[in-house]
Amino acid sequence: MSTPTSTQARPSQWQEKLGVVLFFVLCALLARRVVQAAGSQTVVMIAVSGVLGFVTADLVSGLVHWLFDTWFSRTTPVLGKTFVTPFRVHHEDPLDITRHGFVATNGHNCLVSVPVLALALLLPSGPEAPLASSALTFVLMLCLGVFGTNQFHKWSHAPHVSPVVAWLQARGIILGREHHDVHHTAPHTRHYCITTGWLNRPLEAIGFFGHLETLITAVTRQQPRAEELNLPPAPAAPESAPAPDLATP
Ligand SMILES: [Zn+2]
Ligand SMILES: [Zn+2]
Repeated sequence: MSTPTSTQARPSQWQEKLGVVLFFVLCALLARRVVQAAGSQTVVMIAVSGVLGFVTADLVSGLVHWLFDTWFSRTTPVLGKTFVTPFRVHHEDPLDITRHGFVATNGHNCLVSVPVLALALLLPSGPEAPLASSALTFVLMLCLGVFGTNQFHKWSHAPHVSPVVAWLQARGIILGREHHDVHHTAPHTRHYCITTGWLNRPLEAIGFFGHLETLITAVTRQQPRAEELNLPPAPAAPESAPAPDLATP
């Protein structure tokens, strides 16, 4: 789900290639199970679970993006180089992502999805398990959405895209160029969702990420975007006054 950059600590190229191959093999196996189980579900169940999977991918993209834009620093052990730096470098050089090939762009997300797809294949399906059948559709669409995230994000920055991609962008089916431009306006605190962007406006309307930041600051005393803004930890809350000693005259 991270945005690849030239400075990212990435898995090796063969690991990414293997991830892409495994991803498509497992997706094909899962798609076959979904088709086989289709008879045990209503059209509404299939449609709802599929759309929910794609919407969940958009939510996951927003949460991961917000998390590494807002918290931790480029020097945080393990997370700093692999996740924090790529997202923050992307603000400084948005076109870097367009210089990456297919495997470099998508290998990381394929590797993340492989265990999820493998576990989903263990689920039962068929007339005796209609809910599990719906779960298969959900997981398939979720993983396809997660796979699409970096590719859709890359296309939203690409100077030229195919007519099919431009059509999908113009109709808001995948992340649109102007829609994503909102995030690239400083201080980069809006429109974190980068799969389809469908959830950006509803989440903004309820102040979703602002409320989460207030909660996290209250619990951890850490300020959001502290590294980017060079902020110290939030001051400790004043201690409550001691209760009056009622025994003292
Ligand atoms: Zn960002
Ligand atoms: Zn971007």
